[in-house]
Amino acid sequence: MPTELEQVAAEAATCTRCRLHQGRTQVVFGDGDPDADLMFVGEAPGFHEDKQGKPFVGPSGQLLNRLLAGIGLRREDVYICNVVKSRPPGNRDPQPDEIAACRGWLDAQIRLVDPKVVVTLGNFAAKTLLETTTGITRLRGRTYPFQGRVLLPSFHPAAALHAISSRVGPSPLQGMEEDFQVLAKLLGESRSAPLGGSPDPSRPTGAPLRGSPDPSGDKQLGLF
Ligand code: URA
Repeated sequence: MPTELEQVAAEAATCTRCRLHQGRTQVVFGDGDPDADLMFVGEAPGFHEDKQGKPFVGPSGQLLNRLLAGIGLRREDVYICNVVKSRPPGNRDPQPDEIAACRGWLDAQIRLVDPKVVVTLGNFAAKTLLETTTGITRLRGRTYPFQGRVLLPSFHPAAALHAISSRVGPSPLQGMEEDFQVLAKLLGESRSAPLGGSPDPSRPTGAPLRGSPDPSGDKQLGLF
């Protein structure tokens, strides 16, 4: 018997609510632990994601994996998805009507995975979920209440990789490393105190969250 999330994913797989269905190889719905306490929301599938059917499997995903490992987490401990589920042609920005058309799928994922912490990666995810026009550079560095959860905006890994390769400006990677340290602390704190809303009666106080960092995982990242 498929779970409700699997049923929604099957429905999304044939979605034609926006023009992006015309150019995609397949819908990239989501990946990871469907019961995770930590959810990442990116922008849209790219070339590799479109081919493989999973979010964040290209270079951005490799950086995300390394940032996760730096706080003692593995990709399979968390749930990962995007604001839009079909690849925009040539990796262009998703357009407002495409984001709106895909919103129901994202809302269903958030409701069914029911994470304690949502980390948005990049401008589009932060602006969409926080319903703001403020950019990521100003939004990041703090947490926001979100539907009884905690939302932590961070840069998009692609922005970090781009800044590294073009060697211009302050590296968003440093910002991401800082954000992941905040994340590790948040997940650690939420072991004993429920985050952002009503207590979860099914989880005894002090019990580890699914996807909580290993206590020994509090290390500095040695990226690049
Ligand atoms: N960038 C995103 O925003 N999402 C992906 O899945 C891959 C790259």
